[in-house]
Parts: sequence; C-alpha cells; structure tokens
Amino acid sequence: THLSVTYSPVALEGSPGVLVAFEDLTALEQAVAMRRDFVANVSHELRTPLTALVGFIETLRGAARDDPGARDRFLGIMEREAGRMIRLVNDLLSLSRVEAEERRRPAKPVDIVGLLRAALVTHQETAKAAGIVLTLQADIDLVNLPGDGDQLTQVFHNLVENAMKYGGSGKEVTVRVSEIEREPVLKGPAVQVEVVDRGEGIDPLHLPRLTERFYRVDTHRSREKGGTGLGLAIVKHIVNRHRGRLKIESEPGKGSRFIVILPKN
Ligand code: ADP
Repeated sequence: THLSVTYSPVALEGSPGVLVAFEDLTALEQAVAMRRDFVANVSHELRTPLTALVGFIETLRGAARDDPGARDRFLGIMEREAGRMIRLVNDLLSLSRVEAEERRRPAKPVDIVGLLRAALVTHQETAKAAGIVLTLQADIDLVNLPGDGDQLTQVFHNLVENAMKYGGSGKEVTVRVSEIEREPVLKGPAVQVEVVDRGEGIDPLHLPRLTERFYRVDTHRSREKGGTGLGLAIVKHIVNRHRGRLKIESEPGKGSRFIVILPKN
C-alpha cells in the first residue's frame, strides 16, 4: 500500500494536471502525514530563530545592559536571526505560489540568455569577494521560450547561489546555456542551462532527496550560510511548471552540475 503519484511533464501536457491515485486509506494517511511533517518542519524552523531572539532580548535587558560591546554583538546576531525568518517566510510564500500555479504553464516569451546575463550580474560582487570566477558561456544568442521570467530568474538565482555557497571551494562557477534539437524525454527542441561548480560535490546517497523541502546534506552548514532548505524545492516546482526537467549530477571531491532543461515550444 503506497501513494502513487504520476508526475511527468509529458503526462501533464494535455491532461488536467497531476494524477494522484489514492490506493486506500493508508495512502491517504500517508499524504496527511506528509502535510503534518511539513507543518512540524516549518514550526521548528521558525522556533529556532525566535527562541534565539527572545534569549538575546532577555540578555540585553539584564546582564548585557551596560556593556556596549556585547550589545552590538547581540544586536548583530538578532538582525541575522530576523533575516533568516524573513527569508524562510519569503521562500514559503514562493513555494505555495508556484504550487498553486503549477497546472498552468506560463507562456510569455522569455529571452533566456538575457535573463541569465542579468541574473549573473547580481552575483558578480559576491563571487569576486569570495574569489570565485563566475562566468556565463552561451552557445546561443537569442532564444525565446514560453515561460515566466521572474520565476526562471529565481531558479537560476537559487542554483548560482548554491553553487557559490556549497561549491565555492573550487573557485569556479560556470553557467552554460545551449540548445538541444530534440530532447529525448520532452520529445522536442529544448534549451539546456547547466550550473557547474568545482566544489566538494554531493554524496550520491543524498541526490534523490535533495529537492525535498528542508532536506539538507549538512543542516548546520546550511543554517550557517543562511539557507532555508527550500531553494531546490522551489527550483523543482518552477521547472515542473514549465514542463521542463531538472537533473543533478555530482561527483564527491570534484563538484556538482545542476541541469535545467526547458522545452522551446
Ligand atoms: P539550502 O537553503 O540549505 O541551501 P537548498 O534546497 O537550496 O537549501 O539545497 C539543499 C541542500 O543541497 C543544501 O543544504 C546543500 O547541502 C545541498 N546543495 C545544494 N547545492 C549544492 C552544491 N552546488 N554543492 C553541494 N551541495 C549542494
């Protein structure tokens, strides 16, 4: 007894949407449990920074009241914790918005190369500060594909940010965009965007679960780097909405490659 979810871009094309077959009550219970886990995760993720905030407020009122050095330090931490909550809430809102729209494929023409150029510009400063060479390799010049520009921008922001955060030790992050004449799964012409880093890579054990909400290889590290654990879940949903594919390849010690394939028509 299990919950079977048929979820392929091809099946979605002409059909009303995701096909979910509830085989029995146990399957339904499983779906309910998933929802419950999600709520528990969100609560936990919000409680951690809130508990820290309350703790520091108490300290500022008490022991640290007359210590300007400590006060500055604590206010800095409080600002960071509040920022984490804002990012989490923003990511939750993005996720629910994309999920709600997932059946409707966006169809405005998007200039994907221009979009990537603009997205990379916003990361150049961070890259430079971290000593990372961030480059765009475009084999194509102008391609318009049906999509939602803001959402696709978010996809590449998330992937480039991750490549620098987790794969930055390789000091090289490359975004490559190319055309595929006939993509075998999508059965048509497509545009492929690869985000490649030369960092420490990801153990294959984690790959299948990487796009799950709140799944992290190293929770402490993700938190330290300001991650919400939702970035790749958002990426996956946006790519699904565009009837595209997301592939993740990684070699521990060598680096990772996140590949987004989007149908051209
Ligand atoms: P987070 O907010 O933690 O970054 P994501 O959903 O964006 O959440 O990513 C999930 C996890 O996948 C990260 O915590 C990290 O462990 C791993 N990850 C993502 N991108 C990379 C990468 N380029 N190299 C190594 N690990 C990565």
